[in-house]
Amino acid sequence: MIVAPKIRGFICTTAHPEGCAQHVAEQIAVVKSRGLIENGPKKVLVIGSSTGYGLSSRIAAAFGSNADTIGVFFEKPGEPAKCGTAGWYNTAAFEKEATAAGLYARSFNGDAFSDEIKKQTIAAIKADLGKVDCVVYSLASPRRTDPKTGEVYKSVLKPVGESYTNKNLNTTTGEVTSITIEPAEGDDVAQTIAVMGGQDWELWMDALLEAGVLAEGVQTVAYSYIGPSVTWPIYKNGTIGKAKEDLESVQKALDSKLAALKGKAWVSVNKALVTQASSAIPVVPLYISLLYKVMKADGTHEDTIQQMDRLLRDRMYSGNPQPDEAGRIRVDDWEMEQKVQTLVGERWENVNTGNFDELGDLAGYQSSFLRLFGFGLSGVDYEVDSDTSIGVPSISAE
Ligand code: NAD
Repeated sequence: MIVAPKIRGFICTTAHPEGCAQHVAEQIAVVKSRGLIENGPKKVLVIGSSTGYGLSSRIAAAFGSNADTIGVFFEKPGEPAKCGTAGWYNTAAFEKEATAAGLYARSFNGDAFSDEIKKQTIAAIKADLGKVDCVVYSLASPRRTDPKTGEVYKSVLKPVGESYTNKNLNTTTGEVTSITIEPAEGDDVAQTIAVMGGQDWELWMDALLEAGVLAEGVQTVAYSYIGPSVTWPIYKNGTIGKAKEDLESVQKALDSKLAALKGKAWVSVNKALVTQASSAIPVVPLYISLLYKVMKADGTHEDTIQQMDRLLRDRMYSGNPQPDEAGRIRVDDWEMEQKVQTLVGERWENVNTGNFDELGDLAGYQSSFLRLFGFGLSGVDYEVDSDTSIGVPSISAE
């Protein structure tokens, strides 16, 4: 069938198989152009490996370090007349390219929060790899079912304490309006921590440790965001920020648990980028579109693949991870540079619908968003029929 974008608010309900494959191919090319990562990871588990930062982590490990990879994600396969999700097509393409390059790649589609997927993944590590030397935790989800109690936790994106009013971007029309978000109430904070905090990361690492499938010197990393003070009420000091604080305390607990293996746990603070997860956060898309304009002009703009390549190559496996005072890796360093933040801050004050075209990068925001779903990539013929029912090789083979 002919596949075109169908956008509903901040999601796109269609995905283009060949476009997603091209997106993956472009990311692989970026990593390959930078050469091999010396002493990089060789057997890598990526939890949340199908889109955004997790997909780029998997690509950077495989094609930057010749790593065998196992990926875990929650995606929908396509049917002959119905699109699957972008993460499904991304993984189909990734596995094809990895196999062609002589690399092992196996994937699990299911609920990473469940005991069952953890068991299946551990069985695959034991059978196929023996041990893993790197575990990337990159889940972003609106809800989580507790594996022990069956309770369903829901995460919310709200300020804590008081309501928050600020500028907001309609990413379809380019209109800059004002938005007021009411503060968290009831157990919103606890629920958001239960979904996006560190509990499940710790459950994964405990299960992997107990099964004896972590190699000596293992490193694990989970992702966070801090950003500028203008977004703090909705991000850093909001419900999601509370969950990220929890992630940081789990990082410290994991450091102790991994000490016997001479292992290391990290939280890496990454750059604000257009992903399926970030487009759902109020206010942040306006900040991202102002940021893109400044960083593109500055020559320092990066996408998820450049970020994840830099994380592995220049931080985790460089012998010089350059942690900040709180022990976090900062690949948001270029975003947070004074000159970048000063300019973005000035523009934030002045931006309105009338001057947004000049101050912001709506075209860049929109094209990044469409690319997540395989649209707008060069070399892809969008007028011809696509096979929407393509499979992920390792899953079809089960
Ligand atoms: P994303 O939406 O692109 O990716 C989320 C991944 O999680 C996908 O692979 C999806 O399949 C998987 N997933 C979701 N629920 C699952 C479940 N129940 N079981 C298995 N897999 C599941 O998101 P992203 O933006 O790449 O976010 C990844 C991490 O990076 C998050 O912790 C996020 O807070 C962090 N981060 C994002 C940004 C940003 O600007 N996007 C910046 C800094 C940090």
